Amino acid sequence: MREEPTGGVWVIVDHTGDEVEGIALELLGQARELADRLGLSAAAVVLGDDVRGLAPLLGQCGADSVYLAEGPLLGAYNPDAYAPLLADLIHRERPLIVLWGATDQGRDLAPRVAARLGTGLASNCTRVDLNEDGLLLMTRPVYGGQASCNVVCPQARPQMATLQPGAVPAKRPDPSRQAQVIAVDVSLSSQSLRLRLEEVIKIAPSALDVTEAEVIVAGGRGVGSEAGFHLVEQVAHLMGAAVAASRPVVDAGWAPYERQVGLSGKTVAPRLYIACGISGVNHHVVGMKDSRAVVAIDQDPQAPIFQIADVKIVGDLHQVLPSLVERLRRLRQERGTAEDAEVLRTLADVPAARRDS
Ligand SMILES: Cc1cc2nc3c(=O)[nH]c(=O)nc-3n(C[C@H](O)[C@H](O)[C@H](O)COP(=O)(O)OP(=O)(O)OC[C@H]3O[C@@H](n4cnc5c(N)ncnc54)[C@H](O)[C@@H]3O)c2cc1C
Repeated sequence: MREEPTGGVWVIVDHTGDEVEGIALELLGQARELADRLGLSAAAVVLGDDVRGLAPLLGQCGADSVYLAEGPLLGAYNPDAYAPLLADLIHRERPLIVLWGATDQGRDLAPRVAARLGTGLASNCTRVDLNEDGLLLMTRPVYGGQASCNVVCPQARPQMATLQPGAVPAKRPDPSRQAQVIAVDVSLSSQSLRLRLEEVIKIAPSALDVTEAEVIVAGGRGVGSEAGFHLVEQVAHLMGAAVAASRPVVDAGWAPYERQVGLSGKTVAPRLYIACGISGVNHHVVGMKDSRAVVAIDQDPQAPIFQIADVKIVGDLHQVLPSLVERLRRLRQERGTAEDAEVLRTLADVPAARRDS
C-alpha cells in the first residue's frame, strides 16, 4: 500500500500586500474541514514582501501554520520567482493537498507549479470533497457549464485544485486561534528573473471587485453601446455597487475582463444582482446563480434570465435605467444613501417597465 504524504492541506494565499483576499479565507475554511476529516494539519502559504502581518488572520481562519516567504523580489507577483519557490517548498514539505484560488494569479501559477512537480491540477473547481477512499474529489464545470464532472488524482501528489471565488463560504475568524509562523528560506537573484515589473496601474477605488461586492449591477449586450454601458455604471455608482458585464460586453471592449461574470469569468454570490439586457444564457448564469436576489431588466418577456429573477422588469433599459438614475439621485439627496429595499421599491415603480413579480 502506498504511503501518503503527511504535510497536510495547504492553501496558497492571494493577498494585496496589506490584506488577505476573500478567496484565501474561503479556501482556508475548506482546507480546515478537509484536514480535520483526514486527521492532518492545515497550512497557509504567503509569498510577498513584508507580509508577516497577514499571519494572525490566517491562523484565526483555520491555519495551524503559516509558511512565510518574504523578500523584495516577491513584492509583486512574478511567476519566475513564485513557481520554483513554491515547487521546492511543496517538494520538501510534502502536503497531501494544495488549494489555490481560481484568480488571475492562481490560474497562472498553479499549472506552472503542477508541471514542475509532475502532478495533476483540476482547474476552476466549484467544489472539493473527499471520496470514500479519502481522495480529493474535485468538481468542475464541463461542456460550457451545462454539466459538471468529478475528478480525482489517484497517483501523483499533491492533489491540487483551483477553486472559483465565491464557490465556498469563508469561516468566521476565531480570535482564540493562532498559527505557528514558519519562515521559508528565500534565495533569489534578480538575474534569474526573466520578467521585470515596470509599473503597477491601480484600479479606481470605485471599481469594486465583483467577487467581494454585496450588490452588483451588470450590463449585457442589450445595453447596445459603450454609452449604454455607462448607464449601468451610473446606477452602480449611485448604489455603491460593483459593475459587472456579460461576455459580449467585454468582447466589445465596453468593460474590462475583470468585470466579466460567468463560466469564463468570475463567480459571484452578492446580496443583490441587477441584470440589465442580459438574456440569461447558462454560460452567464453559472457565474451568478447563487446571488440572493436577482432583478432582471429585459425587453423580451421570454428571456431566460426571467426564470431565475425575483423581480422581473420587461422594458427597454434605455428608459428604465435613466428613470432609475433620476430616482436614485433623489433618494441620495434626501437620505444620503440608497438601501436595497428602497432600490427594489424604486425599480418596481419605474415608468415604462412592467413589473411581473
Ligand atoms: C465556452 C464559453 C464560455 C463563455 N463564458 C461566458 C461568460 O463567462 N460570461 C458570459 O456572460 N458569457 C459567456 N459566454 C457567452 C454566452 O454563451 C452568451 O453568448 C452571453 O452570455 C450572452 O450575453 P448577453 O446576455 O449579454 O447577450 P444576449 O444573449 O445577446 O442577450 C441580450 C439581451 O438583451 C436584451 N435587450 C436587447 N436590447 C434591449 C433593450 N434596449 N432593453 C432591454 N433589454 C434589451 C435582449 O432581449 C436579450 O435578452 C461563453 C460562451 C462560451 C462558448
